Amino acid sequence: KDIINCKDLFVGLDTLVPNTNGENVRYINFDNAATTPPFKEELKVLENYMNYYSSIGRGNGYKAKISTEIYEESRNRVKKFFNIDNNDSYTVIYGMNTTGCMNLLANTLIDDKKDIIIATRMEHHSNDLPWRRVGTVKYVEVDEKGKLKLDQFETLAKKYAGKLKVITVSGASNVTGYINDINYVARIAHKYGAMMVVDGAQLVPHRKINLNKKNFEEEIDYLVFSAHKMYAPFGTGVIVGKKTPFIKKDSSMPGGGTVDIVGHDRVFWLDPPEKVEGGTQNIVGVLALMISMDEVEKIGFDLMEKQESLLRDHFTDEIKAMKNIKLYYDTDEKNRLGVCGFNIEGIYHEVLAEYLGKDCSIGIRDGCFCAQPYVKKILGIRDQDTFVLAYDKTLKSPGIVRVSFAPYNTISEVDYCLECINRFISKKR
Ligand code: PMP
Repeated sequence: KDIINCKDLFVGLDTLVPNTNGENVRYINFDNAATTPPFKEELKVLENYMNYYSSIGRGNGYKAKISTEIYEESRNRVKKFFNIDNNDSYTVIYGMNTTGCMNLLANTLIDDKKDIIIATRMEHHSNDLPWRRVGTVKYVEVDEKGKLKLDQFETLAKKYAGKLKVITVSGASNVTGYINDINYVARIAHKYGAMMVVDGAQLVPHRKINLNKKNFEEEIDYLVFSAHKMYAPFGTGVIVGKKTPFIKKDSSMPGGGTVDIVGHDRVFWLDPPEKVEGGTQNIVGVLALMISMDEVEKIGFDLMEKQESLLRDHFTDEIKAMKNIKLYYDTDEKNRLGVCGFNIEGIYHEVLAEYLGKDCSIGIRDGCFCAQPYVKKILGIRDQDTFVLAYDKTLKSPGIVRVSFAPYNTISEVDYCLECINRFISKKR
């Protein structure tokens, strides 16, 4: 019944891990919204590259030239992935992860604490706190199903016109999987003279994003994502976006590799991207990311989406039929990633998550997924009621259990997970 079977392409999917009975069983990874395993092809390419291991930059040796070439070529590869390889107004900047890149972007685009940024209540902390640090953030609220109240973008933009600098929104939520209408939001941003930033950490690995605007589409100024959610190793984040603000502003990541001339009291910066990529760069991570993009394109977003939607709908249909289950997403919404949040009434989220992890060797996640304001909203918990948690560590924090699918997951894995949840429920009865 599966649409694709691409398990063999990934590393570590047949790893055996011990369960509570001491048996070694195959680990099932349903925590893909946190991190995805890399492709085997990356290991092959990296093993070969290790023979040329060397720093990029001004090294004159053969190996340094190879590294530098790969690193620079990768920027075009990334641009091609988003169909903007012919557009020189965009640059590709590497950082550590989405969080690091979002901080870099916030520091670059915002000049004054009074500058207004519109974000949403749906955001991951990494697309909220960096903006709070440098400016004043206003929030678009979500409805009772957790969906963005789209009309509030224009209401807020109009209210703060003149001071509004940036609208930032997640391409897709890591809690509910909802995919947001980023073209609509970008239109509002540009109408009111602001720049449009998209947190693509969840969307980029699962849907084709075309930054080369077509008819009726609006330009996205910045797209940010992490390689480790995109089937490549940890340690690489990416900003794809407009060069100009990085040219105008001093580097917010100053250091080695960012400057042309350094005088005793004067600095001449290099152009972006070098200007904001301080220090020795992660060539291994960038090379792996290029290979993962090749592999993703070989499988094809179309088939990946179909497989993930199949798993999502199968899981939803089956779990919906179980007793005392509460789902935290609109089950009729099809414009959604394979991210399914739920709870069993009367059961603390961590208890079920631990059972699935330890007894069933299924990797899932529970809690607030670094999106506390959003999770509190959809759980119907007042913000201030959770502040006591900061002082009393014996209290239990609210949360949700989340399964998140990738294209290599299968229907039989979902069935096994459902069987385990059923077993857990009967044990508790
Ligand atoms: N934004 C979203 C929507 C995410 O899901 C995540 C990771 N959970 C991040 C940002 C942060 O990514 P990273 O941890 O790689 O910085």
